[in-house]
Amino acid sequence: MEDSQKPRIGLDRLIGPRSVAVVGASEDVDKFGGRVIHYLMKHGYAGRLIPINPNRATIRGLPAYPAVSAAPEAPDVAILAVPAAQLETQVADCAAAGVGGCIVITGKLAEAGPEGAALEEKIVATARSAGMRILGPNCLGILNPVERAMLSSSLALDGGPFGAGGIGMVSQSGALMGTLFAFGSDHGARFSRCVSVGNQADVELVEVLEHLVADEATRSICLYVEGVKHPRRFHQALRDARAADKPVFIVKVGRSEAGVRAARSHTASLAGSYAAFEAICRDAGAVLMEDTGAMVLAADAAIRLPRLPRAGMGVAPIASSGGSTAVFADLMPGAGLRLAELSAETRAVLGGFMPESHVALPLDTGSFHSGQNEAAMETCIRAFMADPDVGAVAFPMTTQPFMAQRAAVLPALCREGRKPLIYVMSAGSIGDAARERLREADFPYYDRVSDALAVLRALEAEAAGRARRMRPDVVRPSFAPPPQPSPASQERESSLPCKRSAAGEGWGGGPNHLTEHETKSLLSTYGIPVTRERLAHTIADALAAARDIGFPVVLKGVSRAVVHKSDLGLVRLDIRDEAALRDAYRAIEAAVDRHAPGTLDGVLVQEMARGEVEAFLGATHDAGFGPMVLAGIGGVLVEALHDVRMAPAPITADDARALFKSLKLAPLLHGLRGRPPADLDAAVEALVRLSWLAADLGPRLVELDVNPLILRRVGEGAIAVDARATLA
Ligand code: ADP
Ligand code: MG
Repeated sequence: MEDSQKPRIGLDRLIGPRSVAVVGASEDVDKFGGRVIHYLMKHGYAGRLIPINPNRATIRGLPAYPAVSAAPEAPDVAILAVPAAQLETQVADCAAAGVGGCIVITGKLAEAGPEGAALEEKIVATARSAGMRILGPNCLGILNPVERAMLSSSLALDGGPFGAGGIGMVSQSGALMGTLFAFGSDHGARFSRCVSVGNQADVELVEVLEHLVADEATRSICLYVEGVKHPRRFHQALRDARAADKPVFIVKVGRSEAGVRAARSHTASLAGSYAAFEAICRDAGAVLMEDTGAMVLAADAAIRLPRLPRAGMGVAPIASSGGSTAVFADLMPGAGLRLAELSAETRAVLGGFMPESHVALPLDTGSFHSGQNEAAMETCIRAFMADPDVGAVAFPMTTQPFMAQRAAVLPALCREGRKPLIYVMSAGSIGDAARERLREADFPYYDRVSDALAVLRALEAEAAGRARRMRPDVVRPSFAPPPQPSPASQERESSLPCKRSAAGEGWGGGPNHLTEHETKSLLSTYGIPVTRERLAHTIADALAAARDIGFPVVLKGVSRAVVHKSDLGLVRLDIRDEAALRDAYRAIEAAVDRHAPGTLDGVLVQEMARGEVEAFLGATHDAGFGPMVLAGIGGVLVEALHDVRMAPAPITADDARALFKSLKLAPLLHGLRGRPPADLDAAVEALVRLSWLAADLGPRLVELDVNPLILRRVGEGAIAVDARATLA
């Protein structure tokens, strides 16, 4: 597309056009074109509306024209909901007429097969050569309440009226955009602009995201993502949103294989690796969520409620039902939330209303002394809001007298306290009067505890994202000078020209796989401590090496055909003397003969390391998002529990620390059952250095893992005892 012209209009006018032509306009609201014009008029579009229909002189009282090129002016936008067969002609007509951009609702293009893809390419080429933008195809258009430009055939527009608000949305699914718009609106959420990008043939998701980040009306952003076309640019846009203090809430499909397949057949876009996506979201301070409805509720809460003062604070549930508060409190840890620890001041206030023994979270106002009522509840909430450990108050209300009156006091308490108050009304339509009070006060509410928890969790993640410094200090560590010609590096040459093993498959196969010994040499050039070791080819060699290194030692059979050495009996630990070494050496030879005959490339003699905790470090290169590092804790448990976290490389020490601390098994670091705490700093240092290795090697590194890095007690460092790598 060398002959692309400068676009005739910017995204601002594509999203908020001054004039709109509806191609295929009709009086019949059962037709796409009929619905589009109906909705535009119904929702008060104030720009010029131009129906295009060759068979009618007027539509809905407006003069109609046979073609866009026959209209008296070239509109900013033409909406095309025409059959695929007419698309090429219509787009060409719009391009010739000087239209700024086409919103192509027509589907069955690239997502349907090669024929559709060819047609899609053609219309994009036509548009680009004229400087005309294309949104879609296979999209549901734009919902822009700020400018009352509802450029869509979505049935969500049967509802309304829709006031303007601050939630911007970009969706790769049109139907989902309409659904979320309707769902959110029912809950009092209000939107700035929602854009369905469909196949992204021209206008892409990231471009709209950048637009929303810059858009004054937009204060928080929802993204429904199937695949990202420009990963680095997307990552940067998320960071820019964070810097602009516009929280971004994202649902991305691709967590499951089935999700990936559905997305592929849906919009012909490739779903990237979910773990890498999650890593860059965390890096940029964006909030990745599971449920699309909760995503909209969270984006709304980020606007209509005060934000959490900071991450890591507790939650104070209060209600007049011991049951509902108990259930709420029980579900909190699963959502990564904890009960607040009330201060002495707060406890003193509560002690004025209830027996000392009942002063605890979750707070059941049913245990107030008799005679205490509304005023006492309000005083409790005020005390919570003032408590330094309370980040948010939760109010899971149940059926009770005066529900509406009780709800009515909450908005003011929340605003005055400047902390979120999460109100749950689970009682079906019985609670409508209470909901009505809250709607009048422009205050959000949730019908289900699960939604409330998802919102709280998202607000907590938002606060954590806000706290993230924007990587100002990713500083390359000064590398230790390349290691002295140690026993390890002297032996390196001998093993580098690889002997390929016929028995190899997967890891053990090709010349691009580095052995443990080779990988450790690479690690040590980045200053990551590795075991002293030497490759031996005879028992006499091994004995000499063990004497140099010092007993006790570890013996490992080296074979490119083997992925997990210990599974096959190739790892012999804690060898204390020469006799034991001879036995171990022979046992390794025998084990290799049994499992992969002829593949023994030597026996590695290495120092026996001791420590408190085994950590896992990994490095890889994501095709889209670039170099990544992984962290895990717990030796074999790492694999069994999939307890690893990923982050883009290079990484700061703070981020590396946060990564380790976010692991399920992080408590192991603190020293359980009388063990001394492990040297987390050393693990952090090693991960930072590995991240630079990953950044430096870029796509040349397929993967590298250090498993385990043994962490000694605090202050005593860490050491890589096993490692392997694959280069491209
Ligand atoms: P693999 O992962 O291929 O089975 P490793 O070299 O990781 O083989 O060895 C298996 C386990 O043995 C390690 O996870 C670690 O617990 C222990 N180990 C290996 N090498 C050493 C060493 N040099 N010092 C102490 N323990 C070791
Ligand atoms: Mg290992």
